[in-house]
Amino acid sequence: MEIITAKSAGFCFGVKRAVDTVYDEINKGGKIYTYGDIIHNEEVVKDLGEKGVTVINSIYELKDLSEGTVVIRSHGISKEIYDILKAKENVRVVDATCPFVLKIHKIVEEESARGKNVIIIGDRDHPEVQGIMGFSSTPVTCIKTAEEAENYVPERGIPTVIVAQTTFNIHKFNNFVEILHKKCYDTTTVNTICNATEQRQTEAGEIASRADAMIVIGGRHSSNTRKLYEICSEKCADTRFIQTALDLNRDSLDGVNCVGITAGASTPNYIIEEVQKHVRGTDF
Ligand code: SF4
Repeated sequence: MEIITAKSAGFCFGVKRAVDTVYDEINKGGKIYTYGDIIHNEEVVKDLGEKGVTVINSIYELKDLSEGTVVIRSHGISKEIYDILKAKENVRVVDATCPFVLKIHKIVEEESARGKNVIIIGDRDHPEVQGIMGFSSTPVTCIKTAEEAENYVPERGIPTVIVAQTTFNIHKFNNFVEILHKKCYDTTTVNTICNATEQRQTEAGEIASRADAMIVIGGRHSSNTRKLYEICSEKCADTRFIQTALDLNRDSLDGVNCVGITAGASTPNYIIEEVQKHVRGTDF
């Protein structure tokens, strides 16, 4: 059996940086919190929990916090949450927001201050998008589907800036931008999709079109992994979404000639290696 593992599978630069930051803080000692799960990966979050890291799940929980270190994950947070954190005298903030996300915060903050309405092409329920929304001082619209792009009604005479969630599908982004450009007056578009995502998506699609079975590894709540699954499913009918090697029935690959493997940005290397061994049947 031929196994093709994507070179771009696994932690991207921003996620690696955020996870490493939390482990560094653990080594320094003191009480560590993360604002939300540091990454969408249950295995990593569980390990951090065992090492004493507590996840703050909401702005209400944050309000009760009086001391310790809070690490901000790669998705970033809204301006409102930054302000709450800054106001706490005995709370140290370690910002591990990915620089690519910080760049979007800056664009949205500056362009909205110039009076432009903001369109974010992405999922309004995703924490990264919610964080970005919080940097706008003008109305923000999130667009996730072609239908939403078609139905968008621009405000008359008001210029618009369009940005993207870093993990959005590049083809859909280009398509929505084309629709929006036809109806919006004075539009500035900044493609803020991260290269890591683009490369991972392109490579996954290429491998899936060659493979008889395609395995996509990642957390259940990871939107970038779900997008990989979507792309691979279009090219390979036998595409499987798993979290760890335990979710994969090795026997179901009997007779398969070529297996492709990719993984979302929040999948640690050791999980990818375990899956490779499991597919090869060398994990026992
Ligand atoms: Fe940063 Fe890109 Fe990774 Fe998101 S996918 S954390 S933007 S490097």
